[in-house]
Order: sequence, then C-alpha cells, then structure tokens
Amino acid sequence: MIELKGYIFDIKRFALHDGPGIRTTVFMVGCPLSCIWCHNPESLRELPTENSFAAGNSCNVDNNFIITEHSITSLYKEIQKDFVFYEESGGGVTFSGGEPLNQVDFLEGVAALCRYNDIPVVMDTSGYAPYESIERIYEWTDQFNYDLKIIDDELHKKFTGASNSTILSNLKRLTGTGDKVRIRIPLIPGLTDTEKNLNEIIDFIMSLKHVKGVDLLPFNILSESKYKRLNKTLPLDNVTVQTDERLDEIKNLFHSFNFEVNLRG
Ligand code: SF4
Repeated sequence: MIELKGYIFDIKRFALHDGPGIRTTVFMVGCPLSCIWCHNPESLRELPTENSFAAGNSCNVDNNFIITEHSITSLYKEIQKDFVFYEESGGGVTFSGGEPLNQVDFLEGVAALCRYNDIPVVMDTSGYAPYESIERIYEWTDQFNYDLKIIDDELHKKFTGASNSTILSNLKRLTGTGDKVRIRIPLIPGLTDTEKNLNEIIDFIMSLKHVKGVDLLPFNILSESKYKRLNKTLPLDNVTVQTDERLDEIKNLFHSFNFEVNLRG
C-alpha cells in the first residue's frame, strides 16, 4: 500500500493566536489562490515530487525555505509532543498554510488521528476548494477559521486570482451545517478595509446561519522580508498600515452588529 505523504513548510509551537489555548500550527505547502498581499509567499508553490526528497525528508527551496515531507504518523508525532500544553490550556493543533485543503487526503488522515487522540483541531482555510473536501474533514475539525476577503467578485478576481463564488457558497453551506466557523478578515489597507467592502462583508455574515465570531487581522508588513528572501517584490505599493484608531473604528463597526470580535495582533 502506498503511504500518503504531506508537505509542510513550517511548524510553529506555542502559538497563541491561531485558535483557543496554546497551539501547534502546521503550515502546509500549496494554495490555489494568489492574493497579492500573501503573508506566506513560501507556501505558494506546486507540491514537490518524490525526487525532491532523494537525500532525506527535507528539501531546500528558494534561499533557505525548507519543505519537509511527512507521513501521517510522523506529523502526528510532532503534534503530539505538546499534548500536555493542549490539555492545560484548552489548545490543540491548527492546520494552516497555504491552503490545507490543497492536500486533503493527507489532511483527513492526520486530523482524524489527532481527534482520535483527543487533540482538538482548527483549520485555517480560504474556503477555495470543492465542498466535498470540507465535508471530508468536517467531523475531525472543532473550528474553521474561514477567510472572507472581498465581496465584490471583480475585485476578488483582481486581487486573489479567482472568483469568490465557491468561497461564498461553501461558507453558506458550512455555516448552515453547524456552529464551527469563525470568520477571519485580513485587513489590507485600501483593498479589504474599505467602508464599502467591510459593510458588504457584514451584510454577508448577517445572512449566515451560525457564526461563532469574527477575527480581524491587521496587515503584517513583516512579510516583505520573506519576499526579499525569495527574490520577489511584495506586489503591494506604498502600503500604510492602519493606525490603532482606525483598527478600533473597524472593531467597533463589527461590535455594533453584535458580533463577537477579536482584533488579532
Ligand atoms: S489564501 Fe492565504 S496562503 Fe493563499 S494566497 Fe491568499 S493569503 Fe496566501
């Protein structure tokens, strides 16, 4: 029988912002979108081939970005190392990326193994995947951190490379199935944080059946250094990060519609 392999570009331990409690965040390679503000450009690549790993389970790509190949059991063992912290803090594992659903066969296996062993599972997702992929991991997932970026479809295509129709219809279906979704909004200056877009996002969330809360993600200028290491330029010109006052304003806007809102640092 062929053993399933998964491709990871980072594992962050003791993460405090990727779900409840203390978490281990696993960053998976590959994403079908190409957001111009992507904070993890090292994830935006094709999955490696078996030949890339001829000399071991890691391969070095693009100036010291390491991709590691894992079996379901080897990744589970990495996650399980911090079990005591999950138990004490109500934490667990968060699968992030890239887009974890891009490797759904592997993801389903490792998420099921975590759940069988009492490790709570959070999925970060762009929602840009066939709904069948979401269904396959639904049972093993305690919480989805689901991105909502831009409601206007033409602007969504322009800045992420794809239509948002699948993302919005998957979100409607997922929030109609159960109460597992937190909405995540990346606040990109001038692109996603405009009054128009934020109000359209609020209207859309109001039309959903179950939403646990909203996480606002201020723009992170630090990703610029990753682009430099990849010999690329951050495709955003002259970005001015939001002031604390503007972030409070946005938070209050969501509060005024009675959402449980969290402004992440
Ligand atoms: S969905 Fe996330 S990982 Fe994918 S391109 Fe957009 S920001 Fe990057």
